[in-house]
Amino acid sequence: MVSAKPIYVLLGKSLNPGRANVFWWRPLSRQAVLVVDMLKDFIKPGFIPPERASETIKAISRLLKRARARGVPVVYVCDSHLPDDGEFRLWPRHAVRGTEGAEVVEELKPQEGDYVVRKRRYSGFYGTDLDLLLRELGVDTVVIVGVATHICVLHTAADAYFRGYRVVVPRDCVNAPSDEDNEWGLRYMERMYGALVKGSEELEI
Ligand SMILES: [Zn+2]
Repeated sequence: MVSAKPIYVLLGKSLNPGRANVFWWRPLSRQAVLVVDMLKDFIKPGFIPPERASETIKAISRLLKRARARGVPVVYVCDSHLPDDGEFRLWPRHAVRGTEGAEVVEELKPQEGDYVVRKRRYSGFYGTDLDLLLRELGVDTVVIVGVATHICVLHTAADAYFRGYRVVVPRDCVNAPSDEDNEWGLRYMERMYGALVKGSEELEI
């Protein structure tokens, strides 16, 4: 596993003539946590009921706390659909931009310093600036959490793998409408994308 210790990189020299010797530094982590679709429209009866998601939410919350404390970037990757989005040809309307359903669940609200990337398809990379953001942050390993394991988590993992990122999926931090979908998604990501699937407490974050 990659060290989560922050590495400091020099970003550039101040151009302010009065402070010519000021340099800008920022911590550079090689890991980032991607929080996929932990939105009110997904954590509800009919998709993933709150009681099914409660342990997942707690595990994600603990992981995010550790990540923020270690300077590991936290990136929320959230469905944010147009009112007549093309995705609604296949799915009922959900997570329409500006509606309450498109908001992150209360327990996991983004905090200062976190990033939010809005998407309109399953993958967090498709039609978004997620790849650019991760490269600017110097990330080479993505730790993917959220829902649903076999849909948006899986397609985000696929696109991460295609782009050369290492993929880690903490099994207690993802969920799906059924155990079958959840297990299938985990197995597929392990086999096809070489994802490291293990408990969140075992991760070096
Ligand atoms: Zn969607």
